[in-house]
Amino acid sequence: MHHGIIFSIFGIEYPIENLNPEDGLPSGWQSYMSKKHGAVTKFGFPATQWKTQFTRSAGSHKIASHLRDSGEWDVEVIDFWSAFDWNDLKALVNDRIHKDTVFVGFSVPWSGSYGKQINLYKYIKKHYPWVTTVAGGMMFNSISGARADYHMVGRGEYGMDVLCKHLINSGSDLKVKRKTVDGREYRIIDCRYDYPAEPKRNVKVSYEERDYIESNETLAIELSRGCRFHCAFCEYYPLGVKGDWTRDVDDFESEMRENYDRWGVTNYLLTDETINDRTEKLEKFGAVVKSLPFEPRFHGYMRSDLLISRGQREVDACLDMGIKGHWYGVESLNHQSAKAVGKGMASDRVKEGLLELDKHFEVNMSFILGLPHETLDSMKDTQKWLNENFNHRMINMYPLYMDKPETKKTRVDISSKLSIGDSYGWQNVFGENQWVHPQYGYTEGDVRVLQREWYDDAYHGMPSIWSLPWITSLGKDPDLIYGERDKLAGEHFPSSDQSIWDRKLEQYRLRKLGK
Ligand code: SF4
Repeated sequence: MHHGIIFSIFGIEYPIENLNPEDGLPSGWQSYMSKKHGAVTKFGFPATQWKTQFTRSAGSHKIASHLRDSGEWDVEVIDFWSAFDWNDLKALVNDRIHKDTVFVGFSVPWSGSYGKQINLYKYIKKHYPWVTTVAGGMMFNSISGARADYHMVGRGEYGMDVLCKHLINSGSDLKVKRKTVDGREYRIIDCRYDYPAEPKRNVKVSYEERDYIESNETLAIELSRGCRFHCAFCEYYPLGVKGDWTRDVDDFESEMRENYDRWGVTNYLLTDETINDRTEKLEKFGAVVKSLPFEPRFHGYMRSDLLISRGQREVDACLDMGIKGHWYGVESLNHQSAKAVGKGMASDRVKEGLLELDKHFEVNMSFILGLPHETLDSMKDTQKWLNENFNHRMINMYPLYMDKPETKKTRVDISSKLSIGDSYGWQNVFGENQWVHPQYGYTEGDVRVLQREWYDDAYHGMPSIWSLPWITSLGKDPDLIYGERDKLAGEHFPSSDQSIWDRKLEQYRLRKLGK
């Protein structure tokens, strides 16, 4: 039996030592929303202690299950990266790696701090030279900071099949792109083009005893891959898919039942790019959910304009299936701006619909600051309307992000359609290239000020839908927590909650270390 290990480097890890009591607990996104402290500065704190990671990554378990299904591979996932210090990591690899160990993987959904990962990579190269390391994630930019022999981009089941065969047979049919970025050479396996795993009908994850899953965890699960739309700024992959790319219902049912029967799990984050791309999809999986002996809860990305235009049938489909937490990428409440990026519903209808959806679901939204046709005043109007109508909800505002001229050449990811970007100019502001709005001349720096003002002035104390893993892991009832609309930031979770979570992490750490 061939052997592999996958470390799951997942979660936003930030230094709790540097948080003040009034920031609230470092749980979910709540800490970012305090009135006194803006969202942006938090990311700038120096890292002294990393403690917070409250869910498992979907990709590592997906790959591990896929390889184990072949019957030829024993693959262990090690979650909760932040639970392990450097000595723990050395102890883990010393204990796990043996002569049949072929690879050590690092699943990296988002970019972050790579210090521990780089040390571990070097340690493995020095002490276990026969072991190949591979970093994987959906976008090259998010994994390029990790050190590994191979960097695998995209959904990696079929890419890992070929890589593993290549490693055990020394075959030469592996498609590798060599790229030098910022002076470092990468061997990239681009699964998006060379080993696409979309659509994939059987994607079931089977957790193992050694994963130590607890019943109050929130796990990740998927219904389909890809998105049928093609918004101008979006870099998910694949986009513009035609037809039904959903997984098989039996495969979904089997995963849901197994997770309930073996571990007692009922809460999920859906990993779909757009959960409600088709109402039929919701009805297909809703029928399975109805047949289950429990009522699951799902949170994830939805399109509000689709829900609004499709009306009650789709609202009912969501309610029937238990899709209670929705994140809407509304992007703009200025009609021309939203239309320019592919979300063209009239803004008054969007506003009216959002107010209605808010009655049925936990609603979070995100907006992009600086889209075409947007003026500084129109963005302020949007913020004003949101403050008047949604001050009980978490709403994120992101400045429009585009690759700067100097980084475009080194970028390996697919670029967005650039239908927006081509019209923007660039201006050097205190040594930094900032975009300049094509029609109204304001800069990236100007909308950053708007963003800061939003987080400073706005008060959205509610935990976000992504706080579900934290809420359930603490043994709290999500309906109660999300129902506490009038609480101040930091009051949803007393400080004792952090010690509950620390104990859970410590328990996982000790179990994995065999102590
Ligand atoms: S922004 Fe959402 S709806 Fe638009 S293409 Fe991307 S995933 Fe699809």
